[in-house]
Amino acid sequence: MSTRDHGLIEELLAGRVLGGLEPEDDAALLAAMAAHGDCEECRRLEAGFEETAGLLGFALDAVPVREELADRVLEGARVAGWAGRRRPQRRAALVAIAAALVVVIAGVATLRPRTQPIVGATSAQQVRRFQGGAGALTLLYAPGQPGALVWGEDLPAPGAGKTYEIWMITGSTPVSAGCASPTNGELSAFTDADVSRSDLMAVTLEPRSCPPAPTTQPVYTATLA
Ligand SMILES: [Zn+2]
Repeated sequence: MSTRDHGLIEELLAGRVLGGLEPEDDAALLAAMAAHGDCEECRRLEAGFEETAGLLGFALDAVPVREELADRVLEGARVAGWAGRRRPQRRAALVAIAAALVVVIAGVATLRPRTQPIVGATSAQQVRRFQGGAGALTLLYAPGQPGALVWGEDLPAPGAGKTYEIWMITGSTPVSAGCASPTNGELSAFTDADVSRSDLMAVTLEPRSCPPAPTTQPVYTATLA
């Protein structure tokens, strides 16, 4: 196990996947990886983000709304500039999204029978847009696999003492997939639950205690069937 710092390399690899790098950042990435020489961790990170790139590419093709969302994310990445520090929050959010996708893929890779190629698993990723409230809220998951990413933009603040709670609903029974609140309207939340067993996903506004059963009506819903 390497004890070298991989923070910068990870950020730049995420940037390359999500929006491309400015030439000087690309050079910085190559230099940083060259400095590590034959580094197992560098290879692991690079392979992970390459899988992410494949997944993002599939999502773009599959769902029109995703294209619009992703375009805005990529635009944000370009505006931010991966060398600059003008919008560190946006940059951090993009890195979090890329990292979460790598987690999804890693989970798929671990749990998939060895006879099935990982590429086949990632191409089964599904993207669903939530209907209802303001902004855009999207669910990314792989049917039959644990792990899902909930990704939102331009979401209203939940209000003082409140949070969004995400529910998996089968029949009439809601099961909590966790609570999350947007930062500046942006939300990136990963759950390790297998959401594909649900008929419906719903989001309610709840107290920050994150109750085990919903206390309000859904503000967003997404049908999975
Ligand atoms: Zn390394």
